[in-house]
Amino acid sequence: MPDGLAPYAVAERNSRGRVHAEPAPSWRNEFQRDRDRIIHSSAFRRLEYKTQVFVNHEGDMFRTRLTHSLEVAQIARSVARALQLNEDLTEAIALAHDLGHTPFGHAGQHALNACMREFGGFEHNLHSLRVVDLLEQRYPGFSGLNLLFETREGILKHCNRDNAMRLGELGRRFLERRQPSLEAQLANVADEIAYNHHDIDDGLRASLIPLSKLREVDLFRDVERTVRERWPDLDAKRTRYTVIREMLNRFVLDLIETSRARLAAAQPADIEGIRAAPAPFVDFSAPMREQHLALKRVLRLELYEHAQVHDMAQRSQRIVTALFTAFMQKPTLWPGQLAPLLADPQQRAQQIADYVAGMTDRYAMAEHDRIRRAGNKG
Ligand code: MG
Repeated sequence: MPDGLAPYAVAERNSRGRVHAEPAPSWRNEFQRDRDRIIHSSAFRRLEYKTQVFVNHEGDMFRTRLTHSLEVAQIARSVARALQLNEDLTEAIALAHDLGHTPFGHAGQHALNACMREFGGFEHNLHSLRVVDLLEQRYPGFSGLNLLFETREGILKHCNRDNAMRLGELGRRFLERRQPSLEAQLANVADEIAYNHHDIDDGLRASLIPLSKLREVDLFRDVERTVRERWPDLDAKRTRYTVIREMLNRFVLDLIETSRARLAAAQPADIEGIRAAPAPFVDFSAPMREQHLALKRVLRLELYEHAQVHDMAQRSQRIVTALFTAFMQKPTLWPGQLAPLLADPQQRAQQIADYVAGMTDRYAMAEHDRIRRAGNKG
């Protein structure tokens, strides 16, 4: 291919384009335009103050949603180049993939989902799409960012049947059990590689994950031994970084080699060959998938379910629930500078969910304080 892309990569010539037609950009390609729109969005800026695992104010060294998204993009871009995929599209998807996250990470999402149960629920992945399709209001001709089909397809990682029917062309692959582009597949796996490794790093730094538990995973043990043999006098901090970097490297290399071999065996002629395949091409080898899952298990048991993380999660859920309930029951608490609350309960619930989901951790806490003070007065 003249553009250096594999024949089955997403390219401008095979893109399904934008919902609202726009003149072609003059000094960047369409995918770079999407990436730029995502970076300039307000939802992207707010990722800086949203929890990944540790609530932002727990320490300046921990990952936030923003640094997580940057690490995902970095990993995904490296692999995209190695596989001759569309690096700009991969980057755009990676940067946008968590835009729909609530404050306080998964705890916030659980709480908001429970609040929204009778109104269709709340799901952060679907909400990411809502952010780029509707909630960002910054262009004269349309709501949302008017991103390319392929960027939106990459953002929507999973989707139930009802939502798939409602989403039309974008939802069709979930009904027909077809695959998304390789760039979307890649951004998804890069997300998993990124959080596994940075959560181990943050978990060790916070002394929440015992090294003994990580050493129960073959790969960790093997990499740690190799690093210690090579650099026996290395201090603990550099050893930790080196072990994590080396593990990450092994996953990335395995991902490249396995995906390349699968593509070489199937020889898809074009992107249709990717979409029609029975399973994703971008994946780890079976042994590395096993190690990946083993690390995930340690993270779940030792970090995500750690009493300290759990306490913070419960506090976060109470804040999100209190915010939603207060706005639903007491419209006078609704901030005046926003559009007036809608009368229809379904629409009102959605409006409140959009507002609460868009909050940063610290803004949610400030709003919670304001509401409590107002409640005490009245
Ligand atoms: Mg993520």
